[in-house]
Amino acid sequence: MQKAPLIWTNILVFSSTFLVALVAVPWYAIAVGFGKAEIIAMMLCLGYCGMSITAGYHRLWSHKSYQAHPILEFIFAIGGAFALQNSAIHWASDHRVHHRHVDDNDKDPYSARRGFWFSHIGWMLRDYQGPDHYTYDNVRDLQKNKILRFQHKHYLALALATNIGIPLLLGVLLGNLWGMILLVGVLRLVLSHHFTFFINSLAHIWGKQTYTDQNTARDNGVLALLTYGEGYHNFHHLFEYDYRNGIKWWHFDPTKWLIKAGSWVGLTSKLRTCPEERIEQAKAAMQLQHAKARLSALPDAEQILHKIELEYELLLERMQAYYELKKSLLLQRKQQLQSSLQEHYAELNIQKQYQELKALFTEQRRHWRRLTTELA
Ligand SMILES: [Zn+2]
Ligand SMILES: [Zn+2]
Repeated sequence: MQKAPLIWTNILVFSSTFLVALVAVPWYAIAVGFGKAEIIAMMLCLGYCGMSITAGYHRLWSHKSYQAHPILEFIFAIGGAFALQNSAIHWASDHRVHHRHVDDNDKDPYSARRGFWFSHIGWMLRDYQGPDHYTYDNVRDLQKNKILRFQHKHYLALALATNIGIPLLLGVLLGNLWGMILLVGVLRLVLSHHFTFFINSLAHIWGKQTYTDQNTARDNGVLALLTYGEGYHNFHHLFEYDYRNGIKWWHFDPTKWLIKAGSWVGLTSKLRTCPEERIEQAKAAMQLQHAKARLSALPDAEQILHKIELEYELLLERMQAYYELKKSLLLQRKQQLQSSLQEHYAELNIQKQYQELKALFTEQRRHWRRLTTELA
């Protein structure tokens, strides 16, 4: 079978930046040395690019797990071009197909079943989809967004302006032009690329299947450190509309923190989460499955298996009872709040009426007094 044609632009960009990061950056570090300014600028730009992809391209636009203020959308759109990962419309289109057909070697654009290299970077080095593949049918909603249409149309100009302009500007402003070009221009881009690519490769290979084994996605706390929280990928593939990936408070998920903090200042809204009960159920079902697999090797497996199944039934029963009561408790609290608000308004209304009647009465009494004195 003939191989798909190579995409030379991608090959050149990935390989040349990688080589410079591998050779020129360490050479410069030894021969000249980098200052604090270049290192801090690189870290900030790395975070900006990374979070524009995770919070913007991924959780906001691909999955619509929350809504963002246009200012924030604009910031993410610029950061996405800076991260050099194609337009958000293009990225989200691929990503929605990835979720819908995950692990399907023919349909998933970066199917992990085709191996580490393919899912990490290989899928971008050849035109596997064919030139007429992109109709953007699955991102019609995003095409209605003015900011995304603008970014898509001017993607190349924005990508060049940010990737060349920002390092140059910082170099001129803070001195050490070459230091900024190497760290902010090249090393930042290479790290940002591969950290994101890990989500498609390693996060489908290395880690635990906490919530489902119906796909290759894995939960991995170490990867979460490099991917701004996206390492909890098993959770994400099952509960893709949840704005969180790491759901426990100790999970490292700066993307979640950014989205949550944004809601306190009006930059984000309508943060979506999946029902806790469904999450707990999925986890318990996987735990049962894992336990069964481990037990089957033991000599008295049947007896323990029976006990485990009974315990599992009890767990589900109590889980259901607990969440049902919790739901009605929340509903009751809401109703109480509503009725106390109503009472409050009723009281306000009476007070207002009282003031009005008092004013009318006082006015009339004054008028009456004047009238009677005049006639006396
Ligand atoms: Zn996703
Ligand atoms: Zn995935």
